[in-house]
Amino acid sequence: MDQITRLRDQMEACKTRYPDLRFHIAGGGPSEPPTQEAKEERWPKRSICTPFRQAISFLGDGRVIFYEEMPRSDFIVGDLTTQSIRELWDSPIVDRWLFPPRGKFAGAPCFDCPEFDECHQFQGWCLRDAMKAYGAAFTAPQECPRQRAPGLRLT
Ligand code: SF4
Repeated sequence: MDQITRLRDQMEACKTRYPDLRFHIAGGGPSEPPTQEAKEERWPKRSICTPFRQAISFLGDGRVIFYEEMPRSDFIVGDLTTQSIRELWDSPIVDRWLFPPRGKFAGAPCFDCPEFDECHQFQGWCLRDAMKAYGAAFTAPQECPRQRAPGLRLT
């Protein structure tokens, strides 16, 4: 916030010096975390998690990653130089990422979630946001109303 304040001050000084200039700063700081009520209202309307539901991401050498924002070796799920897209799409390794067993979520809100099957069968959980906020893919993202741990702020 200090940086925004400094920037505003500098812009005001510029405006005084160059009165013909027109500019403004939009926004002005991080967004507030959503309330529990807002999370409960938004969660059922969340976007579908796209990997292997709507998209495949691959690297230049043909290796396939589960999601384009996770180009790490532990997220490699196949290789297009040796597999067809159909083989990949239906592969057990992809299924394990899309429909992981509850045991993978031990200690996370998902472990005893009554909506576990529905959540993973349809929209899915955003493991990218879970990774970013909590450093672990197998937990609920901040947007999920069952996730109460604050984690890292993502916006
Ligand atoms: S992300 Fe986890 S806790 Fe949230 S609805 Fe899905 S399974 Fe349940």
